[in-house]
Amino acid sequence: MKLKSFPKGGIHPPHRKNSMYSKDDLNATIPSIAIIPLSQHIGAPAKCVVKVGDIVKEEDLIGESVGFVSANIHTPIPGEVIEIKDVYLPSGRVSPAVVIETKGEFTRLGKPLEVSSWEGLDKSELVDIIKRQGIVGLGGATFPTHVKLTLPEGVELEHLIINAAECEPYLSSDHVLMLEYSKEITTGLKILKKILDPKNIYVGMEVNKKDAGELLTNTFKEESLDASVVLLKNKYPQGAEKNLVRAIIGKEIPSGKLPLSVGVINLNVSTVYAIYEAVCLNRPLVERFVTIAGGAVKKPGVYRVRVGSTAKSLIEECGGLIEEPSKVIFGGPMMGFTVFDLDVPITKGTSGILALTKKEVNAAKTTNCLKCGRCVDGCPMGLLPSKLYKLIDHNKYDEALDEGLNDCVECGSCAYNCPAHLFLVQQFRSGKSIVRRSKGAK
Ligand code: SF4
Ligand code: SF4
Repeated sequence: MKLKSFPKGGIHPPHRKNSMYSKDDLNATIPSIAIIPLSQHIGAPAKCVVKVGDIVKEEDLIGESVGFVSANIHTPIPGEVIEIKDVYLPSGRVSPAVVIETKGEFTRLGKPLEVSSWEGLDKSELVDIIKRQGIVGLGGATFPTHVKLTLPEGVELEHLIINAAECEPYLSSDHVLMLEYSKEITTGLKILKKILDPKNIYVGMEVNKKDAGELLTNTFKEESLDASVVLLKNKYPQGAEKNLVRAIIGKEIPSGKLPLSVGVINLNVSTVYAIYEAVCLNRPLVERFVTIAGGAVKKPGVYRVRVGSTAKSLIEECGGLIEEPSKVIFGGPMMGFTVFDLDVPITKGTSGILALTKKEVNAAKTTNCLKCGRCVDGCPMGLLPSKLYKLIDHNKYDEALDEGLNDCVECGSCAYNCPAHLFLVQQFRSGKSIVRRSKGAK
């Protein structure tokens, strides 16, 4: 069978995936204290609607969406609000957060949840539920899902593409989710079909998840859903939005445009599951599947984790550390964020926590650019990373923009290939942020 892929660039880092999990022990321990940031989405932080001393029930609203691309925040545990303070997010940004200490009874945990019927609801009622329950894109971008699902007047959707590529090394959360919840994901897709009425539904995944692909294909048949699984080559970054769309429907999203410009809406498979829970189980987004891995972790695995748990508690859940990690990363090793404090909380956007050994990190000294062109070969966006690096180094931001700085998807393929070990992605991130700030100042 010929596997699909994106045409230019890309790299083949070792997978290091280990989707170890126990069916009966998927739930991580509920934190006794949850630190819940009010900024778990792009856009303005949610407005805090509780105060110190308040008693909240499990899944109560604690932060109200403000602004267009903001999302509601709910508490994953029942308890007392003991503090409201600023915390560091995995990205290094600071966000206000509500700290809740578990008290009182869990009203839903461990109890059979009633499945509501949704077929009688119309599109706008379904989107309202998704908005109310604080669903955001779980692939990392955390864009509020209700906004994505609101098509402009008169637009008909050609393709709904579900991203299950999970191409970053180590990460296996989406894989485990698909193996365990194929029926629920299928229901989530039926809900999306009702909202968006796309002509085609595709689920794209790397071929290393073939077992999940077969399971989903069978479930689609059993549940009479017209959707297809598209198996893709194992090649990083297969899951980058533009690459996925190019691989599946063969169309290029033009620079600066959204997937809708080529008739596509893209959603992550974990987001589809969250939509199922929101609509059918009346559950806000208070937990997600997270991979805890890396050579420094005693027993790596995949767990269903409550938002607000800390990296420290989850590493302890996995038997603790067997050696001092050289680096702790939230997310995958290619696009994730290094954290320097294990008390950083899990947010809706956290797909993994990696505690990597010195050997895995392979930190080497940087040298001058060798002009070898390997970064160019790896770039899926057809950019010239070495040139971009130099332009930003010389503060030539307008020229960097002309060279396509904003088309960089920060995938890290260039840096992975670079024998000079230059911090290419950090340079591009910082260049973009300087450009954004200077535009804001005008
Ligand atoms: S990080 Fe940017 S420049 Fe580097 S390979 Fe990815 S898209 Fe290209
Ligand atoms: S891969 Fe590194 S050393 Fe080679 S040209 Fe690109 S930036 Fe320079």
